[in-house]
Amino acid sequence: MSKLNLFDMVTARYEKAAKVMNLDVEIQKILGRPMNEIIVNFPVVMDDGKIQIFTGYRVQHNNVLGPFKGGLRYHPQVNIDEVRALAAWMTWKCAIVDLPYGGAKGGIQIDPKQYSLKELEHITRRFTYALGDSIGPDYDIPAPDVNTNPQIMAWILDTYLSTVPPQERLRSIHVVTGKPVEAGGSLGRNKATGQGIVFTIERWAQKKNFDLKKATFFVQGFGNVGSWAARILCQHGSKLLAAQDHTGSIYNKDGIDPEDLQKYVEANGGVKGYKKATEVSHEQFLGTEADIFIPAALESQITKKTAPLIKAKLVAEGANGPTDIEGDEVLFSKGIEIIPDVLCNAGGVCVSYFEWLQNKRSEFWDLDDVDHKLKRRMVDAYDRVDEIAKKFNTDSRTASYIVALQKLEFVYKKRGIFP
Ligand code: GLU
Repeated sequence: MSKLNLFDMVTARYEKAAKVMNLDVEIQKILGRPMNEIIVNFPVVMDDGKIQIFTGYRVQHNNVLGPFKGGLRYHPQVNIDEVRALAAWMTWKCAIVDLPYGGAKGGIQIDPKQYSLKELEHITRRFTYALGDSIGPDYDIPAPDVNTNPQIMAWILDTYLSTVPPQERLRSIHVVTGKPVEAGGSLGRNKATGQGIVFTIERWAQKKNFDLKKATFFVQGFGNVGSWAARILCQHGSKLLAAQDHTGSIYNKDGIDPEDLQKYVEANGGVKGYKKATEVSHEQFLGTEADIFIPAALESQITKKTAPLIKAKLVAEGANGPTDIEGDEVLFSKGIEIIPDVLCNAGGVCVSYFEWLQNKRSEFWDLDDVDHKLKRRMVDAYDRVDEIAKKFNTDSRTASYIVALQKLEFVYKKRGIFP
Protein backbone atom coordinates (compact mmCIF):
# COMPACT_ATOMS: atom_id res chain seq x y z
CA MET A 1 0.00 0.00 0.00
CA SER A 2 2.71 2.50 0.94
CA LYS A 3 4.12 2.00 -2.57
CA LEU A 4 1.06 3.79 -3.96
CA ASN A 5 1.86 7.03 -5.72
CA LEU A 6 -0.16 10.04 -4.69
CA PHE A 7 -2.64 9.80 -7.54
CA ASP A 8 -3.28 6.11 -6.80
CA MET A 9 -4.02 7.18 -3.24
CA VAL A 10 -6.53 9.79 -4.40
CA THR A 11 -8.09 7.16 -6.66
CA ALA A 12 -8.37 4.59 -3.88
CA ARG A 13 -10.13 7.08 -1.62
CA TYR A 14 -12.33 8.26 -4.44
CA GLU A 15 -13.37 4.69 -5.22
CA LYS A 16 -14.13 4.05 -1.56
CA ALA A 17 -16.39 7.11 -1.37
CA ALA A 18 -18.00 6.21 -4.72
CA LYS A 19 -18.88 2.80 -3.33
CA VAL A 20 -20.26 4.09 -0.03
CA MET A 21 -22.50 6.65 -1.75
CA ASN A 22 -23.25 4.42 -4.75
CA LEU A 23 -21.98 6.94 -7.31
CA ASP A 24 -23.22 6.39 -10.85
CA VAL A 25 -20.60 4.14 -12.48
CA GLU A 26 -20.62 6.16 -15.71
CA ILE A 27 -19.88 9.37 -13.85
CA GLN A 28 -17.25 7.61 -11.83
CA LYS A 29 -15.39 6.97 -15.09
CA ILE A 30 -15.31 10.69 -15.89
CA LEU A 31 -14.19 11.95 -12.49
CA GLY A 32 -11.56 9.25 -12.14
CA ARG A 33 -9.28 11.03 -14.59
CA PRO A 34 -8.12 14.59 -15.14
CA MET A 35 -9.53 16.42 -18.17
CA ASN A 36 -6.27 17.99 -19.36
CA GLU A 37 -2.62 17.56 -18.56
CA ILE A 38 -0.23 20.22 -19.78
CA ILE A 39 3.52 19.67 -19.61
CA VAL A 40 5.80 22.43 -20.84
CA ASN A 41 9.58 22.47 -21.22
CA PHE A 42 10.99 25.97 -21.42
CA PRO A 43 14.44 27.58 -21.45
CA VAL A 44 15.59 30.27 -19.03
CA VAL A 45 18.86 32.21 -19.09
CA MET A 46 20.53 31.86 -15.69
CA ASP A 47 22.58 34.55 -13.94
CA ASP A 48 25.79 33.03 -15.30
CA GLY A 49 24.53 33.40 -18.89
CA LYS A 50 23.92 29.66 -19.34
CA ILE A 51 20.56 28.23 -20.33
CA GLN A 52 18.66 25.80 -18.15
CA ILE A 53 15.58 23.90 -19.32
CA PHE A 54 12.71 23.59 -16.84
CA THR A 55 9.65 21.37 -16.87
CA GLY A 56 6.36 22.86 -15.72
CA TYR A 57 3.04 21.11 -15.13
CA ARG A 58 -0.59 22.14 -15.07
CA VAL A 59 -3.18 19.44 -14.57
CA GLN A 60 -6.80 20.49 -15.03
CA HIS A 61 -8.87 17.86 -13.33
CA ASN A 62 -12.43 19.03 -13.84
CA ASN A 63 -14.37 22.19 -14.70
CA VAL A 64 -17.99 21.15 -14.61
CA LEU A 65 -18.71 23.42 -11.63
CA GLY A 66 -16.70 26.40 -12.90
CA PRO A 67 -13.23 27.48 -14.07
CA PHE A 68 -10.26 25.33 -13.13
CA LYS A 69 -8.73 26.59 -9.88
CA GLY A 70 -5.67 25.71 -7.87
CA GLY A 71 -2.17 26.60 -6.84
CA LEU A 72 1.29 26.32 -8.35
CA ARG A 73 4.06 24.79 -6.28
CA TYR A 74 7.82 25.02 -6.68
CA HIS A 75 9.38 21.98 -5.06
CA PRO A 76 11.92 19.26 -5.94
CA GLN A 77 9.21 16.61 -5.32
CA VAL A 78 6.82 17.97 -7.96
CA ASN A 79 5.94 15.30 -10.55
CA ILE A 80 2.99 14.49 -12.75
CA ASP A 81 1.40 12.03 -10.30
CA GLU A 82 1.60 14.50 -7.46
CA VAL A 83 0.13 17.29 -9.57
CA ARG A 84 -2.68 14.98 -10.77
CA ALA A 85 -3.53 14.11 -7.18
CA LEU A 86 -3.46 17.72 -6.04
CA ALA A 87 -5.64 18.75 -8.99
CA ALA A 88 -8.28 16.15 -8.11
CA TRP A 89 -8.22 17.32 -4.50
CA MET A 90 -8.92 20.86 -5.71
CA THR A 91 -12.06 19.62 -7.50
CA TRP A 92 -13.36 18.02 -4.31
CA LYS A 93 -12.26 20.97 -2.16
CA CYS A 94 -14.00 23.63 -4.23
CA ALA A 95 -17.19 21.56 -4.36
CA ILE A 96 -17.16 21.01 -0.57
CA VAL A 97 -16.97 24.73 0.22
CA ASP A 98 -19.49 25.42 -2.50
CA LEU A 99 -17.34 27.51 -4.82
CA PRO A 100 -18.22 27.82 -8.51
CA TYR A 101 -14.85 26.33 -9.45
CA GLY A 102 -13.36 23.15 -10.73
CA GLY A 103 -9.95 21.81 -9.77
CA ALA A 104 -6.43 22.18 -11.13
CA LYS A 105 -2.87 22.25 -9.86
CA GLY A 106 0.53 22.94 -11.30
CA GLY A 107 4.13 23.41 -10.51
CA ILE A 108 7.76 23.19 -11.42
CA GLN A 109 10.18 20.62 -10.10
CA ILE A 110 12.72 23.00 -8.58
CA ASP A 111 14.14 23.91 -5.24
CA PRO A 112 13.57 27.68 -5.29
CA LYS A 113 16.30 28.17 -2.69
CA GLN A 114 18.85 27.26 -5.36
CA TYR A 115 17.96 30.26 -7.52
CA SER A 116 18.42 34.00 -7.23
CA LEU A 117 15.37 36.25 -7.13
CA LYS A 118 16.04 37.34 -10.71
CA GLU A 119 16.22 33.71 -11.85
CA LEU A 120 12.98 32.88 -10.04
CA GLU A 121 11.31 35.80 -11.75
CA HIS A 122 12.50 34.62 -15.17
CA ILE A 123 11.49 31.01 -14.47
CA THR A 124 8.02 32.20 -13.40
CA ARG A 125 7.58 34.49 -16.37
CA ARG A 126 8.69 31.85 -18.90
CA PHE A 127 6.44 29.27 -17.27
CA THR A 128 3.47 31.64 -17.51
CA TYR A 129 4.31 32.41 -21.12
CA ALA A 130 4.65 28.70 -21.93
CA LEU A 131 1.22 28.02 -20.39
CA GLY A 132 -0.23 30.69 -22.70
CA ASP A 133 -3.99 30.40 -23.10
CA SER A 134 -4.11 27.28 -20.98
CA ILE A 135 -4.69 29.70 -18.09
CA GLY A 136 -7.12 32.62 -18.15
CA PRO A 137 -9.28 34.74 -15.79
CA ASP A 138 -12.46 32.78 -16.47
CA TYR A 139 -10.81 29.54 -17.53
CA ASP A 140 -8.00 28.47 -15.21
CA ILE A 141 -6.83 30.59 -12.30
CA PRO A 142 -3.56 29.75 -10.52
CA ALA A 143 -2.72 30.76 -6.94
CA PRO A 144 0.06 30.25 -4.39
CA ASP A 145 0.94 26.85 -2.99
CA VAL A 146 4.11 25.35 -1.47
CA ASN A 147 7.05 27.78 -1.98
CA THR A 148 5.10 30.26 -4.09
CA ASN A 149 3.87 33.59 -2.79
CA PRO A 150 2.24 36.94 -3.67
CA GLN A 151 5.42 38.13 -5.41
CA ILE A 152 5.35 35.13 -7.75
CA MET A 153 1.64 35.75 -8.40
CA ALA A 154 2.46 39.37 -9.30
CA TRP A 155 4.98 38.16 -11.92
CA ILE A 156 2.41 35.75 -13.35
CA LEU A 157 -0.13 38.57 -13.51
CA ASP A 158 2.26 40.95 -15.22
CA THR A 159 3.41 38.37 -17.76
CA TYR A 160 -0.11 37.20 -18.58
CA LEU A 161 -1.39 40.77 -18.99
CA SER A 162 1.49 41.54 -21.34
CA THR A 163 0.17 38.84 -23.68
CA VAL A 164 -3.39 40.21 -23.95
CA PRO A 165 -4.49 43.32 -25.92
CA PRO A 166 -4.20 46.57 -23.88
CA GLN A 167 -7.98 47.04 -23.71
CA GLU A 168 -8.39 43.66 -22.00
CA ARG A 169 -5.68 44.04 -19.40
CA LEU A 170 -7.62 45.72 -16.64
CA ARG A 171 -10.46 43.27 -16.90
CA SER A 172 -8.11 40.30 -16.71
CA ILE A 173 -6.45 40.79 -13.33
CA HIS A 174 -8.40 37.88 -11.90
CA VAL A 175 -6.21 35.53 -13.97
CA VAL A 176 -4.38 34.73 -10.74
CA THR A 177 -5.27 35.01 -7.04
CA GLY A 178 -3.12 35.44 -3.96
CA LYS A 179 -1.71 38.64 -5.44
CA PRO A 180 -0.18 41.33 -3.23
CA VAL A 181 -3.03 43.45 -1.84
CA GLU A 182 -1.71 46.55 -3.63
CA ALA A 183 -1.70 44.65 -6.94
CA GLY A 184 -5.31 43.48 -6.82
CA GLY A 185 -5.09 40.98 -3.96
CA SER A 186 -7.61 40.59 -1.16
CA LEU A 187 -7.21 41.43 2.49
CA GLY A 188 -7.11 38.21 4.47
CA ARG A 189 -5.79 36.04 1.61
CA ASN A 190 -2.36 35.63 3.10
CA LYS A 191 -3.65 34.15 6.36
CA ALA A 192 -6.68 32.50 4.75
CA THR A 193 -5.63 28.85 4.86
CA GLY A 194 -4.50 29.13 8.50
CA GLN A 195 -7.64 31.07 9.39
CA GLY A 196 -9.84 28.47 7.70
CA ILE A 197 -8.11 25.65 9.60
CA VAL A 198 -8.87 27.42 12.88
CA PHE A 199 -12.52 27.99 11.89
CA THR A 200 -12.90 24.23 11.35
CA ILE A 201 -11.13 23.47 14.63
CA GLU A 202 -13.45 25.91 16.41
CA ARG A 203 -16.45 24.18 14.93
CA TRP A 204 -15.12 20.79 15.97
CA ALA A 205 -14.52 22.09 19.50
CA GLN A 206 -18.01 23.59 19.65
CA LYS A 207 -19.60 20.30 18.61
CA LYS A 208 -17.51 18.28 21.08
CA ASN A 209 -17.88 20.76 23.94
CA PHE A 210 -14.15 21.08 24.00
CA ASP A 211 -12.59 24.22 25.48
CA LEU A 212 -10.00 25.62 23.08
CA LYS A 213 -8.70 27.92 25.81
CA LYS A 214 -7.32 24.86 27.55
CA ALA A 215 -6.13 23.15 24.39
CA THR A 216 -2.57 22.27 23.51
CA PHE A 217 -1.39 21.66 19.96
CA PHE A 218 1.63 21.09 17.75
CA VAL A 219 2.25 21.96 14.16
CA GLN A 220 4.27 20.40 11.37
CA GLY A 221 5.47 22.98 8.84
CA PHE A 222 5.98 26.58 9.82
CA GLY A 223 5.46 28.25 6.46
CA ASN A 224 2.44 30.34 5.55
CA VAL A 225 -0.17 27.74 6.54
CA GLY A 226 1.35 26.36 9.75
CA SER A 227 2.49 29.67 11.17
CA TRP A 228 -0.83 31.41 10.56
CA ALA A 229 -2.81 28.50 11.99
CA ALA A 230 -0.58 28.56 15.09
CA ARG A 231 -0.81 32.31 15.54
CA ILE A 232 -4.59 32.37 15.19
CA LEU A 233 -5.16 29.33 17.39
CA CYS A 234 -3.03 30.90 20.14
CA GLN A 235 -5.27 33.97 19.98
CA HIS A 236 -8.03 31.60 21.18
CA GLY A 237 -5.94 30.79 24.23
CA SER A 238 -4.59 27.44 22.98
CA LYS A 239 -0.95 26.61 23.64
CA LEU A 240 1.61 25.66 20.98
CA LEU A 241 3.86 22.94 22.43
CA ALA A 242 5.95 21.87 19.44
CA ALA A 243 6.78 22.84 15.90
CA GLN A 244 8.66 21.16 13.08
CA ASP A 245 9.92 22.10 9.66
CA HIS A 246 12.56 20.87 7.19
CA THR A 247 15.30 22.15 9.54
CA GLY A 248 14.23 20.28 12.70
CA SER A 249 11.73 19.88 15.55
CA ILE A 250 11.39 21.98 18.70
CA TYR A 251 9.39 21.59 21.93
CA ASN A 252 8.57 23.58 25.04
CA LYS A 253 6.14 22.20 27.64
CA ASP A 254 5.33 25.76 28.78
CA GLY A 255 4.39 26.83 25.29
CA ILE A 256 6.02 28.52 22.30
CA ASP A 257 5.04 32.03 21.24
CA PRO A 258 4.18 31.58 17.53
CA GLU A 259 4.60 35.30 16.75
CA ASP A 260 8.12 35.22 18.12
CA LEU A 261 8.89 31.91 16.39
CA GLN A 262 7.56 33.29 13.12
CA LYS A 263 10.00 36.21 13.32
CA TYR A 264 12.82 33.80 14.13
CA VAL A 265 11.94 31.55 11.16
CA GLU A 266 11.81 34.52 8.82
CA ALA A 267 15.26 35.63 9.91
CA ASN A 268 16.87 32.19 10.13
CA GLY A 269 15.13 30.09 7.49
CA GLY A 270 13.70 27.51 9.91
CA VAL A 271 12.85 26.53 13.48
CA LYS A 272 16.25 24.96 14.18
CA GLY A 273 18.28 26.81 16.79
CA TYR A 274 15.28 28.60 18.33
CA LYS A 275 16.54 29.27 21.84
CA LYS A 276 13.22 29.38 23.70
CA ALA A 277 12.53 25.69 23.04
CA THR A 278 14.47 22.43 23.05
CA GLU A 279 15.35 20.45 19.99
CA VAL A 280 13.60 17.06 19.84
CA SER A 281 13.67 14.09 17.45
CA HIS A 282 11.09 13.52 14.72
CA GLU A 283 9.60 10.67 16.77
CA GLN A 284 9.40 12.76 19.94
CA PHE A 285 7.76 15.54 17.95
CA LEU A 286 5.07 13.24 16.54
CA GLY A 287 4.47 11.79 20.00
CA THR A 288 3.86 15.21 21.59
CA GLU A 289 1.23 14.93 24.35
CA ALA A 290 -1.19 17.52 23.00
CA ASP A 291 -4.83 17.72 22.00
CA ILE A 292 -4.49 18.81 18.40
CA PHE A 293 -1.96 18.03 15.66
CA ILE A 294 -1.88 20.28 12.62
CA PRO A 295 0.19 18.78 9.80
CA ALA A 296 0.83 21.74 7.50
CA ALA A 297 3.78 20.59 5.43
CA LEU A 298 3.92 18.03 2.64
CA GLU A 299 2.07 14.85 1.72
CA SER A 300 2.29 11.38 3.25
CA GLN A 301 3.68 12.33 6.65
CA ILE A 302 1.23 10.26 8.68
CA THR A 303 1.79 6.65 7.66
CA LYS A 304 1.65 3.13 9.06
CA LYS A 305 5.01 3.86 10.64
CA THR A 306 4.38 7.32 12.10
CA ALA A 307 0.64 7.23 12.91
CA PRO A 308 1.09 4.91 15.93
CA LEU A 309 3.18 7.65 17.58
CA ILE A 310 0.40 10.23 17.47
CA LYS A 311 -1.46 10.81 20.75
CA ALA A 312 -3.56 13.83 19.77
CA LYS A 313 -7.37 13.77 19.90
CA LEU A 314 -7.67 15.59 16.60
CA VAL A 315 -5.63 15.80 13.41
CA ALA A 316 -6.56 18.97 11.51
CA GLU A 317 -5.04 18.57 8.06
CA GLY A 318 -3.59 21.88 6.94
CA ALA A 319 -1.48 20.24 4.25
CA ASN A 320 -2.87 18.47 1.21
CA GLY A 321 -2.67 14.70 1.64
CA PRO A 322 -0.62 14.56 4.87
CA THR A 323 -2.10 11.18 5.83
CA ASP A 324 -1.78 8.14 3.60
CA ILE A 325 -4.33 5.33 3.45
CA GLU A 326 -2.64 3.16 6.05
CA GLY A 327 -2.09 6.20 8.23
CA ASP A 328 -5.83 6.84 8.11
CA GLU A 329 -6.55 3.34 9.28
CA VAL A 330 -4.24 3.65 12.26
CA LEU A 331 -5.74 7.01 13.26
CA PHE A 332 -9.30 5.74 12.92
CA SER A 333 -8.51 2.58 14.91
CA LYS A 334 -7.04 4.73 17.70
CA GLY A 335 -10.19 6.87 17.74
CA ILE A 336 -8.29 9.98 16.63
CA GLU A 337 -10.57 12.34 14.76
CA ILE A 338 -9.59 13.90 11.43
CA ILE A 339 -10.69 17.13 9.83
CA PRO A 340 -9.76 16.08 6.30
CA ASP A 341 -7.55 18.27 4.11
CA VAL A 342 -10.16 19.01 1.44
CA LEU A 343 -12.30 20.60 4.15
CA CYS A 344 -9.72 21.80 6.68
CA ASN A 345 -7.43 23.73 4.32
CA ALA A 346 -10.11 25.07 1.96
CA GLY A 347 -9.86 28.57 3.46
CA GLY A 348 -7.13 29.53 0.98
CA VAL A 349 -9.17 28.83 -2.11
CA CYS A 350 -12.25 30.43 -0.48
CA VAL A 351 -10.48 33.74 -0.09
CA SER A 352 -9.01 33.28 -3.58
CA TYR A 353 -12.61 33.19 -4.73
CA PHE A 354 -13.35 36.39 -2.79
CA GLU A 355 -10.34 38.04 -4.43
CA TRP A 356 -11.53 36.89 -7.85
CA LEU A 357 -15.01 38.30 -7.19
CA GLN A 358 -13.61 41.62 -5.96
CA ASN A 359 -11.48 41.90 -9.12
CA LYS A 360 -14.42 41.10 -11.39
CA ARG A 361 -16.63 43.65 -9.65
CA SER A 362 -13.92 46.30 -9.07
CA GLU A 363 -14.60 46.10 -5.34
CA PHE A 364 -12.39 46.07 -2.27
CA TRP A 365 -13.75 44.32 0.79
CA ASP A 366 -12.60 45.04 4.33
CA LEU A 367 -11.00 42.33 6.45
CA ASP A 368 -14.02 41.80 8.71
CA ASP A 369 -16.13 41.17 5.67
CA VAL A 370 -13.65 38.62 4.27
CA ASP A 371 -13.29 36.84 7.62
CA HIS A 372 -17.02 36.75 8.19
CA LYS A 373 -17.72 35.29 4.74
CA LEU A 374 -14.89 32.78 5.16
CA LYS A 375 -16.17 31.63 8.53
CA ARG A 376 -19.64 31.03 7.16
CA ARG A 377 -18.35 28.92 4.30
CA MET A 378 -16.02 26.87 6.49
CA VAL A 379 -18.67 26.22 9.15
CA ASP A 380 -21.32 25.31 6.58
CA ALA A 381 -18.90 22.94 4.85
CA TYR A 382 -17.92 21.39 8.19
CA ASP A 383 -21.58 20.77 9.00
CA ARG A 384 -22.30 19.31 5.57
CA VAL A 385 -19.46 16.82 5.97
CA ASP A 386 -20.56 15.96 9.49
CA GLU A 387 -24.10 15.36 8.37
CA ILE A 388 -23.03 13.08 5.51
CA ALA A 389 -20.68 11.16 7.81
CA LYS A 390 -23.66 10.42 10.08
CA LYS A 391 -26.02 9.65 7.21
CA PHE A 392 -23.66 7.14 5.58
CA ASN A 393 -22.15 6.01 8.86
CA THR A 394 -18.69 6.65 7.49
CA ASP A 395 -15.47 8.46 8.38
CA SER A 396 -14.95 12.19 7.90
CA ARG A 397 -12.64 11.79 4.93
CA THR A 398 -15.01 9.57 2.97
CA ALA A 399 -17.86 11.89 3.93
CA SER A 400 -16.02 14.93 2.57
CA TYR A 401 -15.50 13.19 -0.77
CA ILE A 402 -19.18 12.23 -0.84
CA VAL A 403 -20.25 15.86 -0.32
CA ALA A 404 -18.24 16.80 -3.42
CA LEU A 405 -19.22 13.77 -5.49
CA GLN A 406 -22.96 14.19 -4.86
CA LYS A 407 -22.78 17.68 -6.27
CA LEU A 408 -20.69 16.73 -9.29
CA GLU A 409 -22.91 13.73 -10.00
CA PHE A 410 -26.01 15.90 -9.91
CA VAL A 411 -24.57 18.43 -12.36
CA TYR A 412 -23.33 15.76 -14.77
CA LYS A 413 -26.72 14.07 -14.75
CA LYS A 414 -28.51 17.33 -15.48
CA ARG A 415 -26.14 18.43 -18.21
CA GLY A 416 -25.58 15.07 -19.84
CA ILE A 417 -22.58 14.16 -21.95
CA PHE A 418 -21.97 15.86 -25.28
CA PRO A 419 -22.86 15.02 -28.07
N1 GLU B 1 -2.90 26.14 -3.00
C1 GLU B 1 -4.05 26.32 -2.19
C2 GLU B 1 -4.76 25.00 -2.00
O1 GLU B 1 -4.18 23.94 -2.08
C3 GLU B 1 -4.93 27.45 -2.67
C4 GLU B 1 -5.48 27.31 -4.05
C5 GLU B 1 -6.19 28.56 -4.58
O2 GLU B 1 -6.27 29.54 -3.86
O3 GLU B 1 -6.61 28.49 -5.72
O4 GLU B 1 -5.92 24.95 -1.69
